[in-house]
Amino acid sequence: LVAASIAAPRPADHGSIIAALGQDPAQVVGWFERVAATGFCTHPVRLHGEVSQVDLASVEARLVYSTDNEPGGVLLKACGNRRASRCPACAEVYRRDAFHLLAAGLRGGKGVPESVDRHPRVFATFTAPSFGEVHARRLAKDGRVLPCHPRRGAKTCPHGVRLACQRKHDPDEPKLGAPLCSRCYDYSALVLWNAVAPTLWHYTRIYLYRALAELLDKREATVKREVVVRYAKVAEYQRRGLIHFHAVIRLDAAPPADAPERIAPPLSAVYTATLLEAAIRQAAETVEVPVPGYGAIPARLARWGTEQLDIREIRQGGTGVLSAEQVAGYIAKYATKATESFGPALDRRIRARNLDRLDRELPAHVAALVRACWQLGGHPDLRHLHLRKWAHMLGFGGHWSTKSRRYSTTFTAIRRERIDYARQLRQGNAPLLDAWGRIWDATTVVKLGEWTYAGTGYLTLAEAQLAAALAAWTREDRSAARKAA
Ligand SMILES: [Zn+2]
Ligand SMILES: [Zn+2]
Ligand SMILES: [Zn+2]
Repeated sequence: LVAASIAAPRPADHGSIIAALGQDPAQVVGWFERVAATGFCTHPVRLHGEVSQVDLASVEARLVYSTDNEPGGVLLKACGNRRASRCPACAEVYRRDAFHLLAAGLRGGKGVPESVDRHPRVFATFTAPSFGEVHARRLAKDGRVLPCHPRRGAKTCPHGVRLACQRKHDPDEPKLGAPLCSRCYDYSALVLWNAVAPTLWHYTRIYLYRALAELLDKREATVKREVVVRYAKVAEYQRRGLIHFHAVIRLDAAPPADAPERIAPPLSAVYTATLLEAAIRQAAETVEVPVPGYGAIPARLARWGTEQLDIREIRQGGTGVLSAEQVAGYIAKYATKATESFGPALDRRIRARNLDRLDRELPAHVAALVRACWQLGGHPDLRHLHLRKWAHMLGFGGHWSTKSRRYSTTFTAIRRERIDYARQLRQGNAPLLDAWGRIWDATTVVKLGEWTYAGTGYLTLAEAQLAAALAAWTREDRSAARKAA
């Protein structure tokens, strides 16, 4: 069994890899087709099984597919991992699906009316407050890089550290996000904030209606009869290890009871993007979530860092606004990233035996955050936050991307569409037939699959390397085509 993370081999190696696969060209082509069908997944799941079709009227079953006829007796299925560090190929598929899902909610399509581009909608970034001074890349309005913490007016902390840094940091300096004084920095409060961030977001959504009502001088119940807030959001890590959320927030007309799925612009002209922005600001400034105390540490309240709350209208054209494509592109990009940007050590759950490796594998302040999770996670008063389970996420146990039920379409629908499209490319417009040669009709025939798990990954190093190289090649090809367009 081949390890998941194998670097793509240099092009010069490909000839010898193909030679290792076998001399028979048909075998090489067959292999290519099987792996291409997984989208060149890095570690596909191997399955044994078969598919039958059952005619509901006669109850006759016919075998239509069996892995016995496949090379090696297995079917390869893409792993579907969203993280680019785990499977670049599947993460790319996810990113494109996320883009289409996001874009449909902003410009219509995929079952969403095109009138969504007239709804009040904004792109908002919610960040955490400060837990101590950290090294940062600061930019002036004209794009010049400014000193991190100018010496003038800098304070000296109780540990005798002058809280100053004259450096104009480069964008990928490992020091970025690290505290100026690690003893002053409140690592525990930071991971607890990450742990309650999903609740903070949840409360903010509830509070948004109240804020709209106050700004319009209406009752909250009236506002809820008139509009519904729909959103899609993704979580991303800042250098300092805090989670932040990027969200598309859209105001729709509250759907009638007999058509809960309907998407339409608000009827009343009082609902504007400017009003939505003001309501989000008000909600973000007001909302707070209790953080439980532990031992001698009292309970506290978690809030947003409202100074950095960034809200921009989504509109085609104009200054200070973002287009639907820009926003969908941003969010889709964040959707395939997670903590692994800090180092591969955070690729998966932390176990007690990994703890002493952290300092070698992660920036010091990130290792300190993982340790804070581990330590607090052992405290009986904080057990319900599952901080050890989420130590590799620096305390955050929420979902990477969430959306309200009727923001646009669903990932499932987009996947289905992609699979149908691929089938159409293979078979042209020929109708889909059942096992009896009749036109496929889901009301008279059902499909039954029986599968067992046979393992994960490619069986030889040569296969794994070739798949990785082909995945990298396809991505480059695609991005070159995009650039050319
Ligand atoms: Zn994969
Ligand atoms: Zn600095
Ligand atoms: Zn200090």
